Amino acid sequence: MFGVAGRGWARPTLRWGVAAMFVALAGCAGRSPPVSVSVSAAPGSPPPGMQYLYGSAEAAALDIQTFGALTAFVERQAEGRASVVLAADAAPDRPAFTACGDRPPAVVFDMDETLVLNLGYEMLEARSGKGFDADRWSRWEMAEGVALMPLPGAVEAVAALRRRGVTPIVNTNRSAASAATAVAALAKAGFGPFRHGETLFLAGDVDGQRRKDGRRQEIARRFCVIAMVGDQLGDFSDGFQGDPVARRALATAPAIARLWGQGWFVLPNPVYGSGLAGDWDAVFPADKRWSDPVEGQGK
Ligand SMILES: [Mg+2]
Repeated sequence: MFGVAGRGWARPTLRWGVAAMFVALAGCAGRSPPVSVSVSAAPGSPPPGMQYLYGSAEAAALDIQTFGALTAFVERQAEGRASVVLAADAAPDRPAFTACGDRPPAVVFDMDETLVLNLGYEMLEARSGKGFDADRWSRWEMAEGVALMPLPGAVEAVAALRRRGVTPIVNTNRSAASAATAVAALAKAGFGPFRHGETLFLAGDVDGQRRKDGRRQEIARRFCVIAMVGDQLGDFSDGFQGDPVARRALATAPAIARLWGQGWFVLPNPVYGSGLAGDWDAVFPADKRWSDPVEGQGK
């Protein structure tokens, strides 16, 4: 129905796009291709993004930092809580939020690379040298939680929510066909019980879409969502569209900037996703270029 299995965005195209971009850039820059973030023909070691996300102490520390901030934020929301879900007629450049009424409090999490790290799948992908494979990913979704692990700090944060009477909810783009194995994987990782349609929402649920706004609206109809956690901006709003410059402007504008760490909690993902885009002009503004006395600005 949705064509592409995966985690919330047009992953296959972008991943190959990133690989192709690196090849092209390496050619332009006249140096050896950097190890691709997603594809390597004969990798002698994991791609740098995977080394960072799945293997580094730095990423583990950042995860613990983020989940600790989430827990502290929720503690402060015991009184005067407010929804952080954008209203149906709002957008990142004109934010307004759903009402809470007397709904019970909840926190909405993405699943992949937000609650769990997909080590088993990602190693196979890196070693295959072929990038993302939707069929392989579908088989991984059905694997019932083997060879994955929770993000450092995540299990403790979800347990703390439950103790406070705050409901953890997962809004993921894993397929609806994998509902039972997603539930099993979350339990096996230590996150406790989730129920499809109640505390677990999958691709196509509610409105048939892969985008998550429809599901967020439905969740906000049932709960007061006091925080959201994800590794892609689509885990917060589908309104973060456009090129990297436009998306960065939206994410850093004052009305949205105040939410980071204060209701919206973002985790690093240098392996795949909407953050891996942009040509030289998008990444390095023209007024921030340095001309080295020896090398000039490079090619
Ligand atoms: Mg994710």
